[in-house]
Amino acid sequence: MQLVTIQGRKPSPASSLAGCESESETSQSEAQHLGENLGWSVLRNLSEIHIELTSTCNLSCSYCYAEADRPGRAFPLFSLELFERVIQILATHSKKSHVELIFHGGEPLLQSAAWYGDACRLATEILGAANKTCAFGMQSNLTLLRDEHIDVFARYNVRIGTSIDGPQEVHDAVRGKFHATVHNLRRLVEAEIFSGAISVIHHHNWEKIPEIYATFHELGIRSFHLNIASAVGLGEGATPLSEDQIYRVLCDDFDTMRTYDGEVVDTRLLAKLKRHVENPTTQGFLSKLSCDSPFCHAGINMVVIKHTGEVFPCGCAGSSGNIKNFLLGNIRDEALSTDFYKTQLVQFHAKSDKYETECRTCPARFVCEHGCPAFDINDPITPEHHCGATKRFQKYLDSYPREVVQRVASFVPYSLMSAEQGGLEA
Ligand code: SF4
Ligand code: SF4
Repeated sequence: MQLVTIQGRKPSPASSLAGCESESETSQSEAQHLGENLGWSVLRNLSEIHIELTSTCNLSCSYCYAEADRPGRAFPLFSLELFERVIQILATHSKKSHVELIFHGGEPLLQSAAWYGDACRLATEILGAANKTCAFGMQSNLTLLRDEHIDVFARYNVRIGTSIDGPQEVHDAVRGKFHATVHNLRRLVEAEIFSGAISVIHHHNWEKIPEIYATFHELGIRSFHLNIASAVGLGEGATPLSEDQIYRVLCDDFDTMRTYDGEVVDTRLLAKLKRHVENPTTQGFLSKLSCDSPFCHAGINMVVIKHTGEVFPCGCAGSSGNIKNFLLGNIRDEALSTDFYKTQLVQFHAKSDKYETECRTCPARFVCEHGCPAFDINDPITPEHHCGATKRFQKYLDSYPREVVQRVASFVPYSLMSAEQGGLEA
């Protein structure tokens, strides 16, 4: 297979890819000693597997990154046999004592409750026998939730999150089925398995941040996560939000969260504010691999596996768009090609010159999202707009007395649902 060369991007230093560094002599001899197939050793740091159950979705949200197919008469789903193989490989080759299995799509509720019952039982038994614990999660539009699903999810504590883009008219303008989503969200809350909400920000709602907070407040959702959409997937070709629009979103997000005084919080902004006031050391900052850090954990601690058996670096971004160029291997094969896996991953995390010349010392680096290797190649405009907006937002924060920003940064994400509405307490 042809390797992808990204013009103008430099491979990341190997030391940045904690799980992707050249295999040390020790781990190599250990693996040989244990008779392990070295082809799977690149998976030793995996603690989060996204299972892309299907690439089909019953909705077609206009900004969806996933390029999801609409359901036809028949569509492929993840087989139980393949799922069992994934779990066996994880049990044998991941060195982590706890793993998270996230059911993703397309729309994961296109799969039957019976399949989930078998899959969760297998995962619990196989990982348990390997002295590992596991937790289950799911991201769903919730419109296809059935009673049988809830029974299985409650039995295995499958924690389920959804997307709500604001009040009904705003949500329905691009996603649809607001009432069905909210109705089923309440059923999940009753069953104590609702995990949280995401709001995707695009042209339909960038001016409506206070309304989004009001919607979550009304629903009793106390913590959510705000994402600016990139023009990728189904949204490819859409006009990206401008720098001014993103700046306004960031400022409104801060001001509205402040107004709610901790009653409703955007956990993503909260994490940025904490870094901003704590001013971590470079080492501390870079050692935390996450979406909002200069280096993320895609392909290192996390991978997505498709119903075809193909392995890609990021579960949050699925297997569409630029991710398609970074196939890491196939779980159906006898072994992964470790050289290929590492080469692909180093290319995936490659940094542009801008990282060295600007980002490393940028005063806004702690409130910056640092782009996303899955989306930025296909939509290079949004990260540039985000960069300009972030620099202005850092100055906006600095225009407040320091205690004000510190106070907002000290908010604690509340329970997902307020107790008085029958929800979960943190
Ligand atoms: S590839 Fe993008 S979405 Fe995935 S973990 Fe990295 S930053 Fe996050
Ligand atoms: S604001 Fe721009 S220059 Fe600063 S860290 Fe972020 S992307 Fe880099």
